[in-house]
Amino acid sequence: MSYTGSCLCGDVTFKLNGEPKRTITCYCTDCRKGSGALGQFISVYDTTNVEIKDPNSKVGEYVVQKTQSGTPKKKQFCTGCGCTIRTLPGKYKGEVSMMRQALLDDDFKNHVPQASIFNDEKERFTSGIKSEFY
Ligand SMILES: [Zn+2]
Ligand SMILES: [Zn+2]
Repeated sequence: MSYTGSCLCGDVTFKLNGEPKRTITCYCTDCRKGSGALGQFISVYDTTNVEIKDPNSKVGEYVVQKTQSGTPKKKQFCTGCGCTIRTLPGKYKGEVSMMRQALLDDDFKNHVPQASIFNDEKERFTSGIKSEFY
């Protein structure tokens, strides 16, 4: 099984070979600010199973120096549309790709998050929100 995805403008596409090692939602400050959303839905792949196609050289990189693990991590994004694509945690020396699962072209029902991390950060932003039903 493989999965395809792209950034918002479509200049950067990718193919994920096989199933992710792990799927998580992360609500840490870096994910929140990096995505502009409350958190990110991440699938963890060995980088060897990720094929990124970037024919117009749009992939940019930002290195997050201050991380909780203490090791800098690389965030890759599309410089055309600003869409975040993946994070490469420094401690795995580029061998692990934290892919943005929400960029997949098809549904991701095979990949429901197995765990949710930094939930206390999410709470901080949502504790005042009332659930409503329509
Ligand atoms: Zn783009
Ligand atoms: Zn995070």
